[in-house]
Amino acid sequence: MTRYIFITGGVVSSLGKGLMAASLAALLQARGFRVRIRKFDPYLNVDPGTMSPYQHGEVYVTDDGAETDLDLGHYERFTGVSARQSDNVTQGRVYQTIIQRERRGDYLGATVQVIPHVTDEIKAFATADTEDLDFVLCEIGGTVGDIESLPFMEAIRQLHNDLDRGQSIFVHVTLVPYIAAAGELKTKPTQRSVRDLTSLGIQPDILLCRCEHPLPDSERKKIALFCNVRPEAVIPALDASSIYAVPHQYHAEGLDAEVLRAFGIKDAPAPKLERWDDIMDRQQNPEGEVTIGVVGKYVGLLDAYKSLYEALNHGGLANRVKVKVKWIDAELFEKGDDIVASLEPMHGILVPGGFGVRGSEGKIESVKFARERNVPFFGICLGMQMACIEGARNTAGIAEASTTEFGETSEPVVGLITEWMGKEGLQKRTADTDLGGTMRLGAYPAKLTGNSVVAGIYGSNDISERHRHRYEVNAGYRDRLEKGGLIFSGMSPDGTLPEIVERPDHPWFVGVQFHPELKSKPFDPHPLFASFIAAAVKQSRLV
Ligand code: GLN
Repeated sequence: MTRYIFITGGVVSSLGKGLMAASLAALLQARGFRVRIRKFDPYLNVDPGTMSPYQHGEVYVTDDGAETDLDLGHYERFTGVSARQSDNVTQGRVYQTIIQRERRGDYLGATVQVIPHVTDEIKAFATADTEDLDFVLCEIGGTVGDIESLPFMEAIRQLHNDLDRGQSIFVHVTLVPYIAAAGELKTKPTQRSVRDLTSLGIQPDILLCRCEHPLPDSERKKIALFCNVRPEAVIPALDASSIYAVPHQYHAEGLDAEVLRAFGIKDAPAPKLERWDDIMDRQQNPEGEVTIGVVGKYVGLLDAYKSLYEALNHGGLANRVKVKVKWIDAELFEKGDDIVASLEPMHGILVPGGFGVRGSEGKIESVKFARERNVPFFGICLGMQMACIEGARNTAGIAEASTTEFGETSEPVVGLITEWMGKEGLQKRTADTDLGGTMRLGAYPAKLTGNSVVAGIYGSNDISERHRHRYEVNAGYRDRLEKGGLIFSGMSPDGTLPEIVERPDHPWFVGVQFHPELKSKPFDPHPLFASFIAAAVKQSRLV
């Protein structure tokens, strides 16, 4: 039987529901259960693909090419289960599906309404492809009381009723604020939020209470009494020292045990938490420290580089070092900031993915600095494209080298890709095509050159990595760039699209067209990040 855990949030946003869902799934998985986590987003965008990283954080891309909410990254990092398109739905997509159906005449003249049409669509999404699972965790974005999330609340209320008794439970995440002047934790917001929830017909089974101070027994009992749950089902969730400490912490507070109890499961094995013990040991007992400079554009909001930050940390775990990340705004180099002073203390320089011309000359200068100074360099997506433009300009004598993304150019070392083989056959694009959902997205294979640096790092010549970009390095420039020392060591299987470039005469210089950070996990660090951090450790011994 597949069981459902519906996770809602109350009081305020940013309580870390995503992390909580990921940690609970990891605990259930550690007890031998098969899990999958899904995210329902109440906003009207069809997917987060066209949303600014400043507003919404990173867009997480799945193997099957979906542009999803960054919480899916947490889910995958904590469980190792590859997320799919069917694991993230927005209200916009729900309406898009319904309106397309309505236009086709599929409703046979019926009045199309929120109940039942929208709620049915949400329920269908929650229950699709779940046969082989023990638990499906459904996280509802937003906060109870939002107008936008009402159809989702109604759908999970109905679903709870449709399913067998004991087949689904509700977990509500709330905040128990500390009022310093009174020296007290306050339970009223939690009471109010549960009252809002019950007015929608949803009685939570478990409350996860985020708090900055330990929750005294008296307050736990009070919350239980007013919110109609047992005191043991009021789980305090204090701030953790690291996100990877959260599964252990929730286990210690009894979260997974309470969940099993709520389902009436009595014979579950104890969780095997060795994986998380090892991560904590590596994190808490580092044998050194390296500083990585990330030269990007969205440095004002760290959620914009969530997976990248985690992958760098995983590289640190692999090497038993602490990774300090210095976020550097590339544009400042264009406005006169001293690049040498900024980059000299770095043990590695990384230019991440991005869009648009702003800051690009600063990124290109950073590549040049790393190349000339023999500092480990990692270019990801736009970062790889910048490495190619830098190589073209400064090592291949193509002074006008640029990308058509930044405007017309006589030397399109990087250009708009207009045709490629996608998962649904030949894909065609023009400069005027819609921006939403029209990039090369998702997992694509690449062939690596036998004796290349990257083949050594991967330990294989065949790889598959996730993409999200509209422009490609132009293979027509390959010979000239290679003469300048920038070797094309990974190509699409048909040999047309450059996937990886490297400089074998440099201590560590790799550019990749894809996003390796999306597949890195704390218990399985991505080889490129492990290798990059190892190179940074070597560099730290030189300076
Ligand atoms: N803007 C570049 C492109 O569309 C790179 C995208 C990225 O870094 N994700 O090709």
